[in-house]
Amino acid sequence: MSKQVDFLPAITGSFAQPASENPTVAMIEAAYRHHGLHFRYVNCEVAPEELKAAVAGAKAMGWKGFNCSIPHKVAVVQHLDGLGESAQLIGAVNTIVNRNGLWIGENTDGKGFVQALKEVVDPAGKKVTLFGAGGAARAVAVELALAGAANITIVNRNESRGKEVVDLLNDNIGATAVYQCWTDKYSIEPDTEIVINATSIGLFPHTGDRLNINFETVLPRMVVADGIHNPPKTHLLQTAAAKGCRTVDGLQMLVNQGVIGVKYWTGVDVDPAVMHQALKKVLNIKEND
Ligand code: NDP
Repeated sequence: MSKQVDFLPAITGSFAQPASENPTVAMIEAAYRHHGLHFRYVNCEVAPEELKAAVAGAKAMGWKGFNCSIPHKVAVVQHLDGLGESAQLIGAVNTIVNRNGLWIGENTDGKGFVQALKEVVDPAGKKVTLFGAGGAARAVAVELALAGAANITIVNRNESRGKEVVDLLNDNIGATAVYQCWTDKYSIEPDTEIVINATSIGLFPHTGDRLNINFETVLPRMVVADGIHNPPKTHLLQTAAAKGCRTVDGLQMLVNQGVIGVKYWTGVDVDPAVMHQALKKVLNIKEND
């Protein structure tokens, strides 16, 4: 008798616009193949006015879950059945999981980052300076506070956005957060232990752009992290590494997000090195980039 073949993979994917530049599909499918998981990940271009239908369609087809990226991270919440703790606090979702027929929204932006950071330093009890107050910074700030960071200084150009993140941390998580405006060259306080860039400064193709900071205030004992994944060795990280700082790059953050997402959908802990390699290949990143 011939062997029974299962032609029906479990489906996961991503809804975004634009979608074609998102490399997540390459790293997730590499992990599925490596671990022999009968899953596929479909990268979908979804316009804002089609989001509701796309979410309903995914449910109708029995998808296991999906990622949401720009511009759907906040808008998708109204189409879901519930939110995880940090997604609720952040007010945005990037990973949706089908749990017993219900769509539950999670946010792995900050979780992936904190996991990457923990491989170098545990943020618990640490003093952190965080540049940015956009979606990524908000997610990172919430996860840092949940991980027990003692003191978080949010440095942002736009004051109201910066203060909003500070209020969120102080009022809802019981963290100690302060806002610093960013109109002039910023000097990092010398007792800072972790420095993080969660702005979009330095993202390809604007790789020559630099943070408006006094780089002499970056000290060797600080751990310096950057959310920019392309290029992974940003100007900030190169400067910090040259001073002897330990660094964490945005590629590690992206890989860890993928690892967490796949765990949600499949229950399997996949090998981050497989995803890392797949990403470097599709982004054409060489060892020294
Ligand atoms: P947003 O547009 O929501 O926020 C952008 C942030 O960058 C704001 O705080 C903005 O400040 C700041 N900013 C931009 N340009 C400047 C400038 N010239 N000077 C000072 N501040 C500036 O974007 P996101 O938060 O969604 O994304 C930010 C970055 O994080 C992106 O580059 C993205 O690639 C990266 N990211 C990485 C992920 C990963 O897995 N590695 C996951 C998610 C995001 P202001 O408020 O003053 O305008």
